[in-house]
Amino acid sequence: MKKILVIALGGNALIRRGQTGTFEEQVENVRHIAPSIARLTSEYRIVLTHGNGPQVGNLYLQQECAREIPAMPLHACVAMTQSLIGYMIQTAFSLCCPGIRVNVIPTRVLVDPDDPAFSNPSKPIGPYYPESNVENLAKKGWRLVYVQSRGWRRVVPSPKPRGIVELEQIKASVENSEITVAVGGGGIPVVDRGRGLEGVDAVVDKDLASSLLAVLLDADLFVILTDVEGVYREYGFPNQVLIRELCCKEAKRLLEAGYFPQGSMGPKVEAAVFFAEKTGRRALIGSLDRLEEVIKGESGTVVRRCVY
Ligand code: ADP
Ligand code: MG
Repeated sequence: MKKILVIALGGNALIRRGQTGTFEEQVENVRHIAPSIARLTSEYRIVLTHGNGPQVGNLYLQQECAREIPAMPLHACVAMTQSLIGYMIQTAFSLCCPGIRVNVIPTRVLVDPDDPAFSNPSKPIGPYYPESNVENLAKKGWRLVYVQSRGWRRVVPSPKPRGIVELEQIKASVENSEITVAVGGGGIPVVDRGRGLEGVDAVVDKDLASSLLAVLLDADLFVILTDVEGVYREYGFPNQVLIRELCCKEAKRLLEAGYFPQGSMGPKVEAAVFFAEKTGRRALIGSLDRLEEVIKGESGTVVRRCVY
């Protein structure tokens, strides 16, 4: 039996900096990285996960714009982006690597209705706005945050993933397809208030949902791909250095000391630590353009259990 590899794709796998995110752009971006993923199917059964921040924000905004059509709630928009992005991934693979089966699983993720994240929105979605728009957007009841050097962005609650509803379907797909796409956009957030599972307006962090899935699948390896070489010490300062290896205790110490920001590197390190601690196996954080080197340990950051 081939080993199981879970790969979490960062936002730039779909939309690169400076792009608006047309359908063609997103397919082309995935097509660029698809061959390196396809080559790994000779050794691994692959589970791909992905974010949806820009896409779900745009779609949610479209609900407001088309006034004559009923607006769908945020959790339904997450569901729509899972299918849309899954389809774009399928298209990219069928263009570059025909013969590779890509199976997309709509996935719900269980969250706690009392998660403190519901009263403290932190997940940025959709476009960046200039300062001049902030007052009007705040009047609509939006919560906004300033993202360094890029502008203001709407934020929504991002509760912790507690369980994966479609786990059995994902397992079955992993047995039968070269590539399974699951927990897209962090999964559709649902709560159990005792009358069945119901969607809630939130966007779950894709790195945390991916690591929960990797643990529940008992994956052999978990890789988080993003737009930097790996985890840096003193990131953004002239003395920044790439951390090649991070053990869980040290990672947790740095997380608690606030070295890794909440909306970006923080959840990646937390997700990697969760996987490494639960499984005793390695989690890797590296660049989207260097997947094969990251897997060989020649690039990126390795997160592992401490030996002492
Ligand atoms: P993704 O879409 O891949 O999830 P994010 O923007 O959420 O990407 O996170 C990656 C970003 O994290 C990098 O582009 C970088 O600007 C930022 N970052 C913050 N702190 C660090 C750090 N210590 N090391 C590396 N990158 C960091
Ligand atoms: Mg992110």
